[in-house]
Amino acid sequence: MTTWIDAWQPADGADRARALFTERFDAEPNGVWSAPGRVNLIGEHTDYNGGLCLPFALPHRTYVAVRPVDSDRIRLISAQEEGIREVDLSTVAPGTVQGWPSYVAGVAWALRQAGHAVRGFDIAVDSCVPYGSGLSSSAALECAVAVALDELFDLGLAATDQGRTTLTAVCVRAENEIAGANTGGMDQAVSLRGRAGHALELDCLDDSVRHVPFDLTGHDLALLVIDTRAEHSHAGGEYAARRAECEQAATLLQVRTLREITPDGLGDALAGLARLTGPEGDGSAAAEVLVRRVRHVVTEIARVQEFVELLAADRVDEVGPAMDASHASLRDDYQVSCRELDLAVDTARDAGALGARMTGGGFGGSAIALVRTGDVESVAEAVAAAFAGAELRAPTFLVATPEGPAA
Ligand code: ADP
Ligand code: MG
Repeated sequence: MTTWIDAWQPADGADRARALFTERFDAEPNGVWSAPGRVNLIGEHTDYNGGLCLPFALPHRTYVAVRPVDSDRIRLISAQEEGIREVDLSTVAPGTVQGWPSYVAGVAWALRQAGHAVRGFDIAVDSCVPYGSGLSSSAALECAVAVALDELFDLGLAATDQGRTTLTAVCVRAENEIAGANTGGMDQAVSLRGRAGHALELDCLDDSVRHVPFDLTGHDLALLVIDTRAEHSHAGGEYAARRAECEQAATLLQVRTLREITPDGLGDALAGLARLTGPEGDGSAAAEVLVRRVRHVVTEIARVQEFVELLAADRVDEVGPAMDASHASLRDDYQVSCRELDLAVDTARDAGALGARMTGGGFGGSAIALVRTGDVESVAEAVAAAFAGAELRAPTFLVATPEGPAA
């Protein structure tokens, strides 16, 4: 009675996108490109604080079939959406494109803004990355478009890691400015720069990366992803509020980002914050709230370092406590968990998981659990039963393995 979201074989995904293209545009695409969704192992809400995170690219990918045209017209179709949409690239600007085409047109717009000669195109999209599950279907779409346009318009960026770092920034601009979602850079970075068999330690202060071997099967372990299927409509507002609180705390502490606060300096920083309250009635968050937010960010960055050291020492079976501590910090200090995420995490642990935590921004989306290979089914069944008992929507599951980047 558990539902599994299997990844498509790459050749199948490419065939689907190509077939959709030829059927709807009555022509052949020049090629098919794809990019993965991701899960984050640890390091949540750290990216926009100049911190560290540790995502890896999923086998679940978004496929785009594309043909350039000799004008500024973009025509778009997606197997996940209704109808053909059309956007004039020369008129794209913040606020002008509604709905899903903004993620695609935004990438073309941001490339142009960066001085690249990009024209219009026809594009057909199909994907096995579930929407809104915290697995970053939005970045998968942007990054697939980015590598497609890179090749079709001869930009040469996808050929080097430095170029891919530029494409990452392009996709972040598309999402922030054209799609209007104020997210950090983790999702796009791992979709473009991840490596099969590895997790990506991403330093969001300078965009540097370290590929950390992530071998679960050798330890008879698996990473179970539980999509709670919960969507809380206030998630976007809460995300913006957390970012604003972090900026406010950084300003009060006179640092550029919270990354500058080290674990050793945390006690002093928190004591300082507790003394500093904004002028009454100016809308700024209370000191108590800022203390919690800063404590989460600083301890979470330290947990990423701890997790990476364990992976580098081939001690992946010992990362469970760091995952548990991350969840507690996100629930109690950052306050971005919800009933469904807590239930998934607690139930997975009770059913034998070595560690479990929410992943992604929170207020719904997915949780991850590190489980023995032989326990994958029973842990999933226990979570499904707990959700049924609580009269919650049935969760869905997938087993995540680290796969390759956009290509
Ligand atoms: P996620 O956590 O999956 O990234 P977001 O809300 O950030 O959730 O992004 C989901 C949005 O991205 C969808 O509502 C849609 O606008 C766009 N999107 C993602 N994948 C596709 C697709 N295959 N076809 C069309 N639009 C897509
Ligand atoms: Mg997204």
